[in-house]
Amino acid sequence: MASHRILAFYYFIAIEDPHLEVEKHHRYLKGRDIRCRVYLSYEGINGQMSATAEEADAYIQWLKSDERFSKIFFKIDPHHEHVLPRITVKFRKQLVALDEPADPRYGAEYLSPLAWQEKLENRDKSTLILDVRNKYEWQIGHFEGAELPALDCFRQFPSFAKRLKVERDPQETTILMYCTGGIRCELFSAFLKKEGFEQVYQLSGGVIAYGHERKGRHWRGKLFVFDDRLAVSMGEEVSEETISHCSSCGTPSATYYNCASMDCNELFIRCLSCAKELQGCCSPSCRESDRCRPFEEVERPKPFKKWYHYRRENRE
Ligand SMILES: [Zn+2]
Ligand SMILES: [Zn+2]
Repeated sequence: MASHRILAFYYFIAIEDPHLEVEKHHRYLKGRDIRCRVYLSYEGINGQMSATAEEADAYIQWLKSDERFSKIFFKIDPHHEHVLPRITVKFRKQLVALDEPADPRYGAEYLSPLAWQEKLENRDKSTLILDVRNKYEWQIGHFEGAELPALDCFRQFPSFAKRLKVERDPQETTILMYCTGGIRCELFSAFLKKEGFEQVYQLSGGVIAYGHERKGRHWRGKLFVFDDRLAVSMGEEVSEETISHCSSCGTPSATYYNCASMDCNELFIRCLSCAKELQGCCSPSCRESDRCRPFEEVERPKPFKKWYHYRRENRE
């Protein structure tokens, strides 16, 4: 049963000495049944955590007892085990990697999950639904009708905003923007506003909050998450549709593998039989590498790596 809780949270607030907050976190977390990835910067906090139910409650109380963090909204998922490998608390220059600074105070208007659903249902041709996540997140699931900006990495979002202004009339376009937990939209939407788009809305709490409140309505596929689960379902009420395919044979699959070759670590979608064939490697050449992890035949493989690979570009 659900003995644990998975927490996702962030908050933008000026922190005078983020290094001190890192230390405080380390002191608090020491010896507790908690695993996490928490980042602190001069602009705020961003975290994911798995903990026993009691430890999760205690952490929420502890953090909120600091007035600066008293308004943090925690997204909470009951679960039966930890989903993160260890305790990681670090200082980061930016909570979201961007080439240009952005200020969330100039970001888009928030829509509650219900208001978001209504906007989706009443959209017309002038509405652009923007998915500001990575391609590998998009591939296994996204909102119907959504578009993924053509970008190599989301650091380049400001240049996308400039191009969009040429393609679309900022006065005539309504933009609905979403990401996994909401933090990227806070900043990315500010770039769109800066380019003159006035009707920009962001999904408050991201897809995670939407899943909690509205289940999978208008969502297709699964939700990619940055922990051992890799992909989660958006709610029991919706039929579990698989929209992604095995990159080798093309049959529907929503299972991600890290290439078993430690020199590669590529993230790719495979069906079980194709994964078996190359023993968890992405390609025959990786299969020949002498630094391969043994292949385990399991329903839901866990990520091997510490996510450096994908998290370098976009941290959430
Ligand atoms: Zn296959
Ligand atoms: Zn490989």
